[in-house]
Amino acid sequence: MSRFDFDLITIGAGSGGVAASRRAAAYGARVAICEDSRVGGTCVIRGCVPKKLLMFGSQFSEAFEDAAGYGWSVGPASFDWPALIAAKDREIARLEGVYRKLLDGAGVTLLEGRGTLADPHTVEVAGRRLTAERILVATGARPALPQIPGIDLAITSNEALDLPELPRQVLIVGGGYIALEFAGIFRGLGADVSLAIRRDAVLGGFDADIRDAVMASLVKRGVLVLPHTQVAALHREGERTAALLDDGRTMVVDRVMVATGRLPNTGGLGLEACGVTLDLEGAVEVGADSQTTAPGIYAVGDVTNRMNLTPWAIAEGRALAERLYNGKSVHADPHHVPSAVFSQPPVATVGLSEDDARLHYGKITVFRSRFRPMKNTLSGRDETTMMKLVVDAATDRVLGCHMVGPDAPEIIQGLAIALNCGATKQQFDRTIGLHPTAAEEFVTMREPVR
Ligand code: NDP
Repeated sequence: MSRFDFDLITIGAGSGGVAASRRAAAYGARVAICEDSRVGGTCVIRGCVPKKLLMFGSQFSEAFEDAAGYGWSVGPASFDWPALIAAKDREIARLEGVYRKLLDGAGVTLLEGRGTLADPHTVEVAGRRLTAERILVATGARPALPQIPGIDLAITSNEALDLPELPRQVLIVGGGYIALEFAGIFRGLGADVSLAIRRDAVLGGFDADIRDAVMASLVKRGVLVLPHTQVAALHREGERTAALLDDGRTMVVDRVMVATGRLPNTGGLGLEACGVTLDLEGAVEVGADSQTTAPGIYAVGDVTNRMNLTPWAIAEGRALAERLYNGKSVHADPHHVPSAVFSQPPVATVGLSEDDARLHYGKITVFRSRFRPMKNTLSGRDETTMMKLVVDAATDRVLGCHMVGPDAPEIIQGLAIALNCGATKQQFDRTIGLHPTAAEEFVTMREPVR
């Protein structure tokens, strides 16, 4: 008999924690998982899933506009925000139920309440002390708030998903994933959207051509982009919020939303007292094997602030369970992890940007295509798609694929497989296109631009 109540206690029932717990239980481990909020974590409850549902909802305005060129006359359309939010809530509740069933079916004990570490083998939750041979920290992250006066008046993505009414004017602070996704949602639903970014372009770290293409599409879709702009303070102005910008101007809007990064949820868990080292931003430090500095305590997902993507957290969690409970030396592969920004139009990317490729490989060849998607011919929509391949000149291997345009995330997922297989540009060229699609451009780009 084990001297512990469980083999593994996971703190946090989000993507990484649930994946690790279910996989460990499948190998016979006695597993419990604590959750102080709703089962499903950021992705299911207040991130990827609800965001994408709202994105779908916001795209109908574009479809109505485009329909005219195809012979449709669409009567006056109206939109009901509470109806969309209620429908989204029903779907999230359904998914939460699915997650609970999955845990139950796997034999994982759900402990509802906030789990904290009393010692390296004891978790306190809802007034109970439970012991485990191993503990997995998978507590995720939360929105980071700039330290400015009046910041309490701002909303984050958490509140944006549940607003009682659709704001008519929104100022979004930040130029990353979340800022762009919500700019698309609010703009698609008819709001006036301003985007305050502290640099000259959005999406720092992405390929420069992607950043340019996204900036152009934001402007075309009527988002007011304010480059080199920071918000210095917020104050209430009646029912609305006034934002004092660092150039001295004041903007008065219905809502100010901040999307300025996320911080790991590590406060008050008792981690440091158990020997778990946190970095300067409060993230749990782990090695490639998800092991923290405390023996027997592991961490996966956003709480480690490495690659803050759901599929990555799931891959890390499953690999950890394989190593600990199935004797397999598997690790999640950090190479060629694709990612997408569900802006409108969306962005997707896998591999290296042109600048990073040049830095690491020296001589590279760049192929780029800009074209008007076929659907935009009859609709008259003035928007182009941009696709780009970055190739190592020495080996002909494709190092990066980038796209801004409709269906970009669906297309880049397939190309991520090609990059994982080490595909060369010649192999891309040998592949017959699927006609007529936008995706076929990726196998028909012949002349390098650089
Ligand atoms: P990001 O890191 O993507 O973007 C943060 C943005 O805020 C950047 O533009 C940054 O500017 C700016 N910023 C940071 N601090 C300040 C400040 N004090 N004042 C003004 N601007 C500031 O963070 P997000 O919050 O958008 O998303 C967090 C993470 O969650 C993402 O990085 C991603 O890993 C994940 N995510 C993934 C999604 C997906 O896969 N589709 C969707 C949503 C989130 P600068 O560039 O100058 O640093």
